Amino acid sequence: MGRLQQTVFERNVPARSVVDHALARTRQAVFWQDDLGTPDRYPRLSASARADVVVVGGGCTGLWTALGIKQRDPGARVLLLEGRSVGWAASGRDTGLVTAPLGHENLAAMDVAVTGLGLDCGWERTGVVDLAVEPHQIDQLQDAAVAAAVAGVPHTYLDRAKVRAEIASPTYEAGLVRPGGGALVDPARLAAELARAASALGVEIFEETRAVRLAVPARGAVALRTTSPAGEASVRAERVVLGTGAFPPLLRRHRRQAAAVYEHAVATEPLDAGLLAALGWRGRQGLADAAHRYRLTDDDRIVFGGYAVRPAGGRMSRAHENQPETARRLAEHLLTTFPQLEGVRLTHRWAAATARGVRTGPDRLAQPGALGPGRDT
Ligand SMILES: Cc1cc2nc3c(=O)[nH]c(=O)nc-3n(C[C@H](O)[C@H](O)[C@H](O)COP(=O)(O)OP(=O)(O)OC[C@H]3O[C@@H](n4cnc5c(N)ncnc54)[C@H](O)[C@@H]3O)c2cc1C
Repeated sequence: MGRLQQTVFERNVPARSVVDHALARTRQAVFWQDDLGTPDRYPRLSASARADVVVVGGGCTGLWTALGIKQRDPGARVLLLEGRSVGWAASGRDTGLVTAPLGHENLAAMDVAVTGLGLDCGWERTGVVDLAVEPHQIDQLQDAAVAAAVAGVPHTYLDRAKVRAEIASPTYEAGLVRPGGGALVDPARLAAELARAASALGVEIFEETRAVRLAVPARGAVALRTTSPAGEASVRAERVVLGTGAFPPLLRRHRRQAAAVYEHAVATEPLDAGLLAALGWRGRQGLADAAHRYRLTDDDRIVFGGYAVRPAGGRMSRAHENQPETARRLAEHLLTTFPQLEGVRLTHRWAAATARGVRTGPDRLAQPGALGPGRDT
């Protein structure tokens, strides 16, 4: 690759010995699961059922949807079917940086829900700083600043000197601070808490219950077949919401609309006060450059995520979650971003599948499909 095409991370690769040291004791484990305790578990579906709405998938898409339906229509019978356990997939493993790239309505609604329902999920309205790490990205950030001004969104544009004074990285070329544009959350606790709140409102959650077949007739109820260790069952409902993320879609027509891509993350050990001071970062904002999202945790670790890898052949497999060479690349990028971390260990590395494709939204969330009689087949 020619020098001009290289990124800042390729031009400034940390010394091999520094990366080796950082990774010497790294476990393949999801950091967020260490302190999760024993979240509530839900039964398997063992008998056929009838509902107004059935939600397939117990990630953040399915859980927020089921909760929202029940809040709007407390009398509705809402079933949520999860093939394993709620939050086990991408939703419980992500970086936990909630951003509002297009509008603040979603983020504000999450804020109201988290506070109103008393969800214990490490929610912090820190805001976010979008970063340019290449000179050619400065224009994009300036355009974003103009768009924010037009939309009346509070923001501050920081040039190279100012952004480095705020957060001490030699890679930063410019920054756009959006104080209302982001929040931090512990994603595994959020999923567990959403399930608890949804269940308390009357959503009937079933775990280890996989939907295996979906029929959406032109008239009449939607029909789902399910399987679980308790046996097979069927569910009939007026509406079905598909929140199955990167997993194989239940409808053939969705198969070409999204592909599974594995996103990776690493976590450092807790940083001491001296190291934190060397980084600046006093506002604890979520940080995002074109390839990475990273944030501080409650106990002052850095969780650094990014690096999407599309598996060969496109098939999902738990084996794709264990990629030491991708974790090494992330470790290099983290150390290039913050050379001050030389000597710090990475404690965890993990990955999960997310959906990418024509039907993905601005946050790369797979768009849930809301289907009902006569509206889709
Ligand atoms: C390392 C990493 C970092 C990330 N960082 C961020 C970030 O900082 N900010 C951000 O906004 N996003 C981030 N993401 C992306 C984000 O995690 C995903 O977009 C989001 O979690 C997708 O949620 P979901 O509910 O659609 O899918 P999932 O969380 O994948 O949930 C889908 C669920 O559906 C279930 N399911 C599938 N098929 C069936 C079936 N047939 N029957 C029953 N159940 C079924 C699965 O078991 C699974 O639990 C990151 C992702 C990763 C992996």
